[in-house]
Formats: sequence, C-alpha cells, structure tokens
Amino acid sequence: MSKIKSMAETPKHAPMNQFEVADNCLRIGGQPLVDLARQVGNTPFYAYDRTVMRSQVEQLRAALPAEIHLHYAMKANPMPEVVRYLAGITEGLDVASAGELKVALEAGAKPANISFAGPGKSDADLQAAVDSGVIINMESNAEMLRIAALVEGQPIRPRVAIRINPDFELKSAGMKMGSGPKPFGVDAECVPAMLETLGTLPLEFMGFHIFSGSQNLREQAIIEAQTKTFELAFRLAQFAPSPVRWLNIGGGLGVPYFPGEQRLDLASIGANLSSLIETAQEKLPGAEIVMELGRYLAAEAGIYVCEVVDRKVSRGQTFLITNGGLHHHLAASGNFGQIIRKNYPLCLGNRISADELEVVNVVGPLCTPLDVLGNKVILPRAGPGDLIVVFQSGAYGFSASPKDFLSHPHPTEILL
Ligand SMILES: *Cc1c(COP(=O)(O)O)cnc(C)c1O
Repeated sequence: MSKIKSMAETPKHAPMNQFEVADNCLRIGGQPLVDLARQVGNTPFYAYDRTVMRSQVEQLRAALPAEIHLHYAMKANPMPEVVRYLAGITEGLDVASAGELKVALEAGAKPANISFAGPGKSDADLQAAVDSGVIINMESNAEMLRIAALVEGQPIRPRVAIRINPDFELKSAGMKMGSGPKPFGVDAECVPAMLETLGTLPLEFMGFHIFSGSQNLREQAIIEAQTKTFELAFRLAQFAPSPVRWLNIGGGLGVPYFPGEQRLDLASIGANLSSLIETAQEKLPGAEIVMELGRYLAAEAGIYVCEVVDRKVSRGQTFLITNGGLHHHLAASGNFGQIIRKNYPLCLGNRISADELEVVNVVGPLCTPLDVLGNKVILPRAGPGDLIVVFQSGAYGFSASPKDFLSHPHPTEILL
C-alpha cells in the first residue's frame, strides 16, 4: 500500500476528461464501453469518437483567427471514415502518398484543397498528383524538374509549392522536422535560386510549405516558430515569380501523452497568429493561410481497447497479459520515437475505480520484452475478461504499427 501511495505523488497524466464515466464504466460515442465491446464482437479494437474530433476543431476555431484554414494531415489516422469526417469539418487534407491521395479524393475533398508533401515521391505519386490537380509541395529542385518533365508538351500547369527546410528550429518539439540538415524540403537559403528556375517552367506557383516539427506542448516555442515561419515566407516571397497565393505554416500542436504533460493553451497562440495574419494581409495580400494538423485533431478522440487474457505474478510483480500490444499500437509501447519509455494514459475501462488497487505491468502477447503497454501502473485489481483502455490513441496508432508481426488478428477500427 505504501508503494501505491508514493506513486500517487509522482506526476500524473492529464485528465482524460474528453470521455465520460458512468456506473464506473468508461463511455464513448454515447454508450458504455462494455456495450460497445459487445457490439464490436472482438477485442482488441480502436474506437474513434467524432464528437471529440469536432470539439478539437471547435477549440481551434474559437482560439485562432478566422483567416487560418485548417487542414487534416491524413497520416495521423488514415481510416477512410475518419478522413471523410475530418474533411467535412476542415478546409482540406494533406496527403503524403498516392494511396493517401486516393482516400482523400474518395472522402470528397476538392483537389484544390489537398496538398501532397513527402520526400521521395515516385513518378507514380507525382503523376497521380498532377492528374488530380492537387498542390504538390516540392521537396527538392530535382523533384521540381521531374514534375515539369512529366507535363512536357501538354497544356497543363501543375500547382506547386516549395516545401522549405527553415533556417530556424522549433524549440522542444517532440519530433523536429526542420532546420539543420534534413531530408525534408529545400534549405531556405537555396529557395531563391529554385524560384528563379521555377519561373521558367510550366508550373503554377502557389506558395510555400514550412513545417518545423511535431508534438509541441510549449506555447512559447510554437509562437516563436510561427513568427519565424511568417518572416521567412515574407522574405522569400520577394524572390517568387508570382504572388504567393498559398502559405502552409505547418502545425505541430501537441497533445498530452505522458505524466506531467498538460493540454496546450491555445489563447496565446491565437493572439500571436492574429497579429501575424494582419502583417500577412499587407505583405502577401490574398494568400490563403493553412495550418496542417494531424495529431491534434485525431489523437484525443481515439482509444485502443484490449482484453486481459492472463494474470500472473513473477518474482513479486503482477503482469496483466492482454491480447493487444505493440503489433497494433507501437506508439503506446514506447517504440515509435520515444527515447525513454513512458506510459500512455491507461485505465480499466469496465471498472474505472475500485477499493482494491494494485501496481501492475500491462503487457501484450508478443514474444518480445518490447511489448509493454503499461509499466508499473495503478489499476483496480483485474483479471481475464477485463478491458484495458489506452487513451490518446486516435493518431499514429494502428496505421503506424507492425500489424503482421507475429501474425495475430488485426484489430477492428470503428468511428463512433
Ligand atoms: C506528419 C506531418 C504532419 C502532421 O503532424 P502532427 O504532429 O500529426 O500534427 C503535418 N505536416 C507534415 C508535412 C507532416 O509530415
């Protein structure tokens, strides 16, 4: 008992209050989790609650200036139903492969509102992008020449933007994607020369894409990066062959995963963006300003649910062995970009609280010590048949996991 008490004093996860609890059971999509599990018919499964996605969009709309258009970056969660839903409540989609492009078009997004980024686009990727008329975020000078070669002799001018590898860094981003030597985008200092070439090619110049990083939970770092993003765009616009009509300022807004992390306060970010937009209206008149978000829109809305199969004690530690693990949810196991493994927020979905708590390790069925969902977590006493819920699982979950590793069945995904 003293062990539990001392752990209770260590930093806590942010409250997962995007979901309700009634009768000691988690509710999602307006129903108790146990009913949903019965309806799905098997575990493990992913469930995504559209009302939570909508609420994330609404919070952004309330805090950010109205001029900012929101795009959903599909790689966070490419489930077609999720993409269709988010396409309907945002201004567009960002895709990173011909496969994602197909889903985006089927979801009903207009080609003019889709942008296609990603280093190493194949000729098939580029052809699909050209054929559909989406904005191609060019990642290199060579890619620009390949696009021009694809349409040589044809009366088509593909819409293009230059993805810029900025000359500043997004401080404290979980995953840095800009500054220094990077495979993404064109180094800012090389952009003027590329723009000069672009002016001679049969391409329709749209503007710039500047994405500096992901999973940032520090408002001040985001504000600084966004300010520098606009300054960089203003500077480089002077070298453009035609006015900038489109500026994608990236996203990078984080969500709390680990103990001690808090949800972002959007107010200060919104206030800074309002003043940046004012300057942009002067310096880039008429340009559409886009913010692209994946995780922020999808992560909070999703849970991963697996079932306890076995319970055992090994040399003083209790293990709950479940039918879910890293093959379905690599990120929650700590093997998707974490340096020091930390627990995602977990609960026992069918019995949120109990008098009898215990410290347990929640693991998956794979024959590898990496298959951990919870290391020394405090849960009500649980056993076979109980449902373990991993929160913050709506982004970078199933599609970012090695689903065939050990050949277990794939989980069901359901949008509620
Ligand atoms: C991955 C990615 C995103 C989405 O990042 P999130 O952290 O999920 O919001 C946006 N833009 C680009 C270019 C990306 O590669």
